[in-house]
Amino acid sequence: MAITIKTKNYLYISIFLLAGLAVTLKATHWFYLNEGYTQTAQQSKQQMTELVNFLDGSLSRYESIPHLLSTNPLLKNALISRQKPDSIQALNLYLEQIQHITESLDIYLIDTAGVAISASNWQERYSFIGKDFSYRPYFQEAISGKLGRYYAVGASSDKRGFYFSYPIYHESDILGVIVVKVDITDIERQSSGIVGARGFEFAITDPDDIIFLSSIDNWLLHSLSPIEPSRQHEIDASKRYANRTIDLLSIEPTFDRRVTSEQNNYAIESGSGPIEYIESRKPMARAGWTVHIMAPLSPIYHSLPAFMIFNSCIYLLLALAGLFGYEKRKSTLRIQQANDQLEQRVQARTQALEASNQKLNETQDELIQAAKLTVIGSLSASINHEINQPLAAIRSYAQNTQTLVKRNQLEHVSGNIDTIISLTDRLAAIVGQFKSFTRKSQGDDRATDISQCISDSLTIIQPEIDKQGIELILSPCKVVCEVWGDNVRLQQVLVNLMSNAIVAMRHCIYKKLTVTVSKDTMIHVLIQDSGSGVQESQMEKIFEPYFTTNERQGLGLGLSISRRIIESMQGKITVSNACQGGAIFKISLPIHHQGKISEDLCHQQGELYDEPQ
Ligand code: ADP
Repeated sequence: MAITIKTKNYLYISIFLLAGLAVTLKATHWFYLNEGYTQTAQQSKQQMTELVNFLDGSLSRYESIPHLLSTNPLLKNALISRQKPDSIQALNLYLEQIQHITESLDIYLIDTAGVAISASNWQERYSFIGKDFSYRPYFQEAISGKLGRYYAVGASSDKRGFYFSYPIYHESDILGVIVVKVDITDIERQSSGIVGARGFEFAITDPDDIIFLSSIDNWLLHSLSPIEPSRQHEIDASKRYANRTIDLLSIEPTFDRRVTSEQNNYAIESGSGPIEYIESRKPMARAGWTVHIMAPLSPIYHSLPAFMIFNSCIYLLLALAGLFGYEKRKSTLRIQQANDQLEQRVQARTQALEASNQKLNETQDELIQAAKLTVIGSLSASINHEINQPLAAIRSYAQNTQTLVKRNQLEHVSGNIDTIISLTDRLAAIVGQFKSFTRKSQGDDRATDISQCISDSLTIIQPEIDKQGIELILSPCKVVCEVWGDNVRLQQVLVNLMSNAIVAMRHCIYKKLTVTVSKDTMIHVLIQDSGSGVQESQMEKIFEPYFTTNERQGLGLGLSISRRIIESMQGKITVSNACQGGAIFKISLPIHHQGKISEDLCHQQGELYDEPQ
């Protein structure tokens, strides 16, 4: 199931990526071509302005020459006295000179009949002199008094040229026409240079869409649109193209001069396949031409794949980065969720542990209390005796006092009452000690004097020691030794150990209990009895809970609880057997504080302790 969902996810991601890639490719294709078209169109426009300015400038330069020449009397004289060979020869030389200076192709003078009477090329094989130019439109325009402008292939020279003509006046009569023919190839070369700087081509068409000037030779004298047969006859009759055949240029779609849009796309056959161009056109009204700039689309198409690959790579990188970010975010969220869950579980577990720890502590306190009460229970007979003894004495002293009062022997009464008070104090001290010992301790740690603790424990155990007739030997430490811990719990340990010692000695004839306090790096309390000792196999077992050999009275908890109490005070409790018999329990505790024993304490302890034997 999980694998299916994962596979589905991968499928969705792949579809998403592919769809994105397709959109990117389409958008890049559209944007790049659009941008390419716009830029190319803009550049074409600039080139167009430059080219048209250049052409205008060139035409203007030449069209003033015939006007200027017409003012020269040499021309007029030649036309008036054309029979004089000297004047014609003089004019021939003059025209030849002017032709050299102006770098034009030919300059020639035509009479009113349209026949050239003088020419700069008078020496050439193809000299115009005597030739009839009456059919040329430039002649017809000039003879009617206008400036003539014309483009044609020379009938004699077979060279393409521009013709500029102007009438020669004598008073108000027109005597003839002066014509300047300009070489077209130079203008064509320079025009090619202008548009070629940007890798463009150009073509200049006449009103019949015939290309007569172009940067591509193959286009020359080809028409952009089909020519009607009747129109073809007219063109042939004008000999404008010197009877050359005008073929239709292979262009797709069909060229339409009426299209008004500034830019059009055409594919023109180049010999090695069609080439796509953006065509910009501009009419030159003065000359009656149309200038076409052809910007090839191949540079745009050439760099298109690289641009598309680049954009695809960028898209894929961005998409992968996006996916990676998305997956990272998802996994961060997953980790965050897992962490939150874990934290919640840890919190719940900690709470449960704290609760169970609390319960354990309470149970442990209960157990400690139970074990303590068990010891007290085992000592109850002797405690009972310890309390009953002063009570009986108090009663006896009270009865005796009553008798003395009845006999009016009041002088002894005061002594009896003092004794009763001191017995009551003793009772209060014993009960107070028991009360303090049996109260349920919560582990109230504080600095505890070890000698004082032994002394308090003996208050509890002393009646049983006396009852069992045990010789007690105490060997104190010479300095005040304080440990850190709960005073009542430490007493419980001492009472438990001494109580166990008393039980262990119950069948012995000679009973001796020795309590020794010493110190080195730690404080050591040794409790040694003269009993049977602990069997070697039971040395560790006796500290285990519920291990007891005292089935009648024992719970088997005393030593395990004692070890726990001592260990909670950072100490340890061990057992060994003395070589003369009997067990030795050793409690070792860290020293909290030590000082010189005070004189009062020395006195008190002198009462309490005997020198060890
Ligand atoms: P209980 O006193 O209820 O038996 P304890 O844990 O205090 O429980 O003692 C466990 C056992 O250790 C005793 O039953 C006894 O067999 C052994 N033991 C304790 N103290 C002495 C001792 N001083 N001499 C010999 N055996 C002892």
